Parts: sequence; C-alpha cells; structure tokens
Amino acid sequence: MADIEYLKSQLGVHPDFPKKGIVFLDIFPLLRNPVAFETLITNLIHHLTSHTIPASPSKKIDVVVGLDARGFLLGPIIAMRLGAAFVPVRKKGKLPGQCVSATYVKEYGEDSFEMQSDAIKPGQTVVVIDDLIATGGSAKAAGELISVQGGKTLEYLFIIELTFLKGGSKLDAPVYSIVQSD
Ligand code: IMP
Repeated sequence: MADIEYLKSQLGVHPDFPKKGIVFLDIFPLLRNPVAFETLITNLIHHLTSHTIPASPSKKIDVVVGLDARGFLLGPIIAMRLGAAFVPVRKKGKLPGQCVSATYVKEYGEDSFEMQSDAIKPGQTVVVIDDLIATGGSAKAAGELISVQGGKTLEYLFIIELTFLKGGSKLDAPVYSIVQSD
C-alpha cells in the first residue's frame, strides 16, 4: 500500500489538458524518477508472477502487447523480465507488412489500431499494457486484434484506471490497475 501511495504521488496532474474540463494524469514524472520507475515495474512483475491473474492462475504469459504510445514504454521491460515476446499495437498506417486492424470510438469520431498479422500465434497467452484506461475503447480494440489471431488475453494492465468510466466492463478479461482515480 505504501508503494501505491508513493507511485500515486509521482503522477503529474494537469487540469484542463488537452482541453477544458479534462484532468490529464501524466506518468512521465514517475518515469523520470528511477526509484519510482523500478517500484512500478516490480509491482507489475510481482502481480504477473504471483498467480494473481484471476483468469489464469499460474499460466505462462507468451506475449505482452503494448498500446501506442505509452504502452511502448512499459511493455518491452515487462516482456523481457517475463521472457515473453513484446508486440506493439499501433495507430493505423504505421506498421509495415500485412496487418489486422480494429476500429474504436474516440471522443471525436473513430480511429483504428493495427497489429502485424503474424505477431501472435493461435493459443498464445497475452497480457495487454497501457498507461491508463479511460472508456476502454482502445483496450477493447487491442483485445479484438489478439482474439482474431487466436490469442487468449489473460488480463489488461494499466498504471491508472479512471474507475468512474467503467472501461473494464467492455473487455474480455480482467483489469489490473495500480492507481484508481474516480
Ligand atoms: P480509452 O480508449 O478511452 O480507454 O482511453 C485510453 C487512452 O487514452 C490511453 O492510450 C491513454 O494513454 C489515453 N488517455 C486518456 N486520458 C488520459 C490521461 O488522463 N492521461 C494519460 N493518457 C490518457
């Protein structure tokens, strides 16, 4: 619990960014502090290796999927420590080769996520990571890209969960978040 309060204290809070009425929670101050960053990674690794994944106790994780863009800062570190593959989900048009795509709803209109078609093999177990879950739209699209390739998502991991938006209810696996904001 002390670690969680410590991590929470390292987040930046920006009222009215990127527009009036939105309070933007910023993980970059946390990443600037190596002790806080190590505490964060240790928390996630401990969670993933201490059979606390409700969907799949003690199951091996084959793939860590990181979401564009801040999921790329966390996913590769987690994947390396687990001995798993890292796979990026990117905004449409950024990845070379054949891709699968899924559309999600944003505040203004729609956007699409893509993943390289051979990135996940049927039957592989996957966790998804990003900095923050709000409505859950982007995480849901990532889950679709995983399931269309035959992967099994065990859990969605976030540093921050905006619990009042209930984004986790859209997803096909449980959410683990370190800091809950309401
Ligand atoms: P969702 O798809 O509505 O769940 O939105 C989540 C996405 O929006 C993630 O990729 C987040 O990085 C980004 N996002 C939304 N609000 C914030 C915020 O307050 N801080 C940082 N990222 C945010």
